[in-house]
Amino acid sequence: MTRTVRELLAESRPTWSFEFFPPKNPEGATQLWTALRELERLHPSFVSVTYGAGGSTREGTVSVTERIATETTMTPLAHLTAVDHSVAELRNVVSRLAAVGVRNLLALRGDPPGADPQAEWVAHPEGLTYAAELVELIRSMGDFSVGVAAFPERHPRSPDFETDVEMFVRKCRAGADFAITQMFFRPEDYLRMRDRVAATGCEVPIIAGVMPVTNARQITRIVQLSGQAFPEHLADRFAELDGDTPEARAAVRAYGVEVATELCRTLLDEGVPGIHFITMNRSTATREVHANLVAVGTSH
Ligand code: FAD
Repeated sequence: MTRTVRELLAESRPTWSFEFFPPKNPEGATQLWTALRELERLHPSFVSVTYGAGGSTREGTVSVTERIATETTMTPLAHLTAVDHSVAELRNVVSRLAAVGVRNLLALRGDPPGADPQAEWVAHPEGLTYAAELVELIRSMGDFSVGVAAFPERHPRSPDFETDVEMFVRKCRAGADFAITQMFFRPEDYLRMRDRVAATGCEVPIIAGVMPVTNARQITRIVQLSGQAFPEHLADRFAELDGDTPEARAAVRAYGVEVATELCRTLLDEGVPGIHFITMNRSTATREVHANLVAVGTSH
């Protein structure tokens, strides 16, 4: 029986976890499984698979998590969103995930389908409106360990930090065991949010989401997807290093690894309960950050 994230967090801190997305084609599947196998050697606490906006990538979440549960030594966490799903469909997906041995779910509202994640969010007529309702639904269906999303710079739709924290705590009280943050680049954003949440009496562990930047063009996409600002001094340095030569590309990658390593070091010193790497289905940068942390003895 695979372990739950709840149990893993209680047993060993910090947890180490890696995030992947379902492949869109056979080449993508090869890349994903190469990265998964390479990162398996680091003995992650768990690995997560995101949930897409529709169709085949959604099936991919079920099949990839099933393969992780049955063919690898790793513990899977499946993301699930309420986008374009009726409650009956959500129940069906949760049951299918449970049937293939998945015990960990990340309950998310999801972003509106389409290119603009900040577009208006419209609930399915027979569906759910907020992630808290999905937490309750999953909880009502069995003994799952349920996680939720947290936003160190607040969710782009939240009017202020106070409301954001209030809504976050509400979904924790609906039955979440843990949270994973949106990627962020300034440790103080995470620490401020953690303190605000702790001040409410909520003790749900908040795992930090970290993405090593491996090319300068990613920054525009990060800003678009997260709806959050990228620190100017880092953006300037990436722009300075960027260029069309292999040396310039290598310098950008090396700086991305350095920035992520420094962020993790600070967070670990601050007692973060876990680090969740967004891998983009590639293993090298994550392995390098991990190796840097192991080298100075700050890892598990
Ligand atoms: P919610 O918690 O429902 O919050 C959405 C907004 O509504 C917030 O502003 C919140 O403050 C507000 N709110 C909540 N409850 C109430 C209420 N009762 N009344 C009024 N306002 C309220 N997206 C995907 O499509 N697939 C993925 O796999 C995926 N994985 C992710 C993993 C992580 C770690 C993170 C951080 C995000 C992920 N996302 C994913 C993106 C996520 O779906 C979006 O950021 C989405 O906009 C917010 O989801 P949520 O679960 O936080 O929503």
